Amino acid sequence: MTNTATRVWTDVNLEKEGVQHGYLRVPHSTNDSGYGWIPVPISVVRNGDGPSVLLMAGNHGDEYEGQVLLMKFLRNAPIEKIRGRIIILPGVNAPAVAAGHRVSPIDGGNLNRLFPGDPNGTPTQMIAHFIDSILLPEVRYCFDFHSGGYSSEYIPAAHLVAPDEPALREEAIGFLKAFAMPNSILIEGLMGGDLRLLGSCRRLGVGHMSTELGGAGAFSVDAFRSAESGLPRLLRHVGVLAGDGHEDVPPVSQFYRRHPARDFVYALATGVFEPYVKLGQTVADGDVAGAIHFTETPWREPEIVRFKMGGTVLKRRAPARTKIGDCLFTTGTRLDN
Ligand SMILES: [Zn+2]
Repeated sequence: MTNTATRVWTDVNLEKEGVQHGYLRVPHSTNDSGYGWIPVPISVVRNGDGPSVLLMAGNHGDEYEGQVLLMKFLRNAPIEKIRGRIIILPGVNAPAVAAGHRVSPIDGGNLNRLFPGDPNGTPTQMIAHFIDSILLPEVRYCFDFHSGGYSSEYIPAAHLVAPDEPALREEAIGFLKAFAMPNSILIEGLMGGDLRLLGSCRRLGVGHMSTELGGAGAFSVDAFRSAESGLPRLLRHVGVLAGDGHEDVPPVSQFYRRHPARDFVYALATGVFEPYVKLGQTVADGDVAGAIHFTETPWREPEIVRFKMGGTVLKRRAPARTKIGDCLFTTGTRLDN
């Protein structure tokens, strides 16, 4: 009979009051360590009754602002102000986090493409399965802090895939307004979302929001500061953090709508990409996005790349070396708030 229960174990008790720090222990038997496990840090902060919230970062290991945001939060968690429970995974795909890579160096696993996971699978699949089968059923909200990673850079933004159901859509927009990054991106259409954390959240009725806090494998000071001021607002908004009556009014966030597939600009040649536009710039349908230069045949005219859909440039490819199939830009339509 196939095992369907998680093989990941932890000595952190999700029901216990107070602050606990520990590990999810993901079994991993190697030449060096026959009975070893991979440590995935977990903290649980619980104080009485209230909603349960899961905070995650390091879903991709080369996205750093969210990792630091949650490490700082868990070290200073204001237990007396918590009303309910906050579960924190600040470096959830731990091998990818340790390597500073998008995917796990152990199994090549991209955690956010492996949901709902597999209890008998690779370490990354086991982590996904633990989140799906143990943690998400315990919580009402899940906020997952991403950035662009080594290969992409975004305007500082929170984003989410807009639910179709009006009440859920309203709730999700409420997360964006409370977190209030300078920019908020509403993505229309799930686009393989069922294999992402989002897919599990939808299936289990968990409210979900994600972010894009900069990228390019660097650390964005501006995006981080916005996220650091936004996190307590978001937690108060969902009722897991009590206010003290002196709360700041959230700044106004500029909203954008994205239509995946149509708003992606892909490279159809391999070479050095010379962008003609910057992040945040407004472009029209058919505008030139840049040129791909051929270093092995420098006398050849470069390949001109164009935007299919006009709008605001929300994401750019970070490394200049580009090959056919790489995503160069993503655009979005500016919305009137
Ligand atoms: Zn990511």
